[in-house]
Amino acid sequence: MIARADEVATRAKKLHADAIVVDTHLDAPDQLATKWADVATRGATDHFDIPRAREGGLTAPFFSIYVAASYADNGAAKRALELIDITHRVVDGHPKDLTLAGSVADVRAAKQAGKLAILMGIEGGHAIEDSLAVLREMYRAGVRYMTLTHTNTNHWADSSGPFYEPDFDPKKSALHDGLTAFGKDVVKEMNRLGMIVDISHVSDATIRDVLAISRAPVMASHSSCRAISNMPRNLTDDQIKQIAAKGGVVMINVGSGFLDQKVYDQFVARMAKMKPEYLKLKATYAKDPARLRTEMQALGKQMDKLPRAAWTKVVEHIEHVMTVGGEDAVGIGADFDGIEDPPVGFEDVSLYPKLSEELLRRGHSEAQVKKVLGENFLAMFARVEAAKAKLAGEPPLTTVYSPK
Ligand SMILES: [Zn+2]
Repeated sequence: MIARADEVATRAKKLHADAIVVDTHLDAPDQLATKWADVATRGATDHFDIPRAREGGLTAPFFSIYVAASYADNGAAKRALELIDITHRVVDGHPKDLTLAGSVADVRAAKQAGKLAILMGIEGGHAIEDSLAVLREMYRAGVRYMTLTHTNTNHWADSSGPFYEPDFDPKKSALHDGLTAFGKDVVKEMNRLGMIVDISHVSDATIRDVLAISRAPVMASHSSCRAISNMPRNLTDDQIKQIAAKGGVVMINVGSGFLDQKVYDQFVARMAKMKPEYLKLKATYAKDPARLRTEMQALGKQMDKLPRAAWTKVVEHIEHVMTVGGEDAVGIGADFDGIEDPPVGFEDVSLYPKLSEELLRRGHSEAQVKKVLGENFLAMFARVEAAKAKLAGEPPLTTVYSPK
């Protein structure tokens, strides 16, 4: 038995070193905006730095250009540009280790050169400030995907909402029944540009509309499976099937509540317990959101600590997408630096090799493991690039957003 286990470990190590490893959601820029650090130094952010990324065999992380809901109608494009600037500064500061990437070919070239390919994705469609011109400029600045909403519904797309607020009610986020006419033009223009449409965070109605109108495959950059943990940020089996049927991918989020129903249930119970006090605080600090945040953090600290999922749950979600959507439809979008509760045993970017070994141990082929690690994402990205090439004759959309 031991010899066999060692044989699997050896095979996993070799396969992982050869593989292209993509993670479509890493919140390092937001952490670096709060507290600048040299990413060559271990511990630069909670979950990322070059040494740990090298240990983890990471090839291509998407730096998240995460624009919090508080920036909606309040400097959202500026915030996005500041995080894009941070990303460029990080890459420019480490030319031997890092290179900015914007295509499938760039990612493969980076692997050849022994460098990490850094890509960018905007999180929160309010970042374009309702302007297709700003969307195009974001593409020119290097952005290759956009999550249509964050936890806030914007002027043209419904969000699944702020599920972590004690008075969370998804109905409050359902303002447009999915995408508005302008939102549909945003998706069309993203298809034309070759910017991947990301349906993490959006409502079920928005997912329905995107799947109906997108002329390119779509991605969930950091969402997991509702069949295993039934929470609003995860995807139903039916959604997974439809995303897969369009040539898209589901990139698994490793937050403990995303992975494990027991953790999510305890989280919901905790929210219910906090609700009366939360409503009082909300009324008292209605005009002082910063104070409300501080008070809520203090309240949270009085509550029981939530458990963490086991890291093998990540593999369970990967296998579930394989079963429901097929082996071409799954990858990793861990949400490192954006989650505070990674599972036990999968706490940062140094640990991706564990997934390769566990998948092999469970009987998946080396080709299948490589697909999960990065080839599925690259194949989907190539299909998005092909859709762009097909739409090359189409003029840029000039639709102007106007409030209803
Ligand atoms: Zn997110």
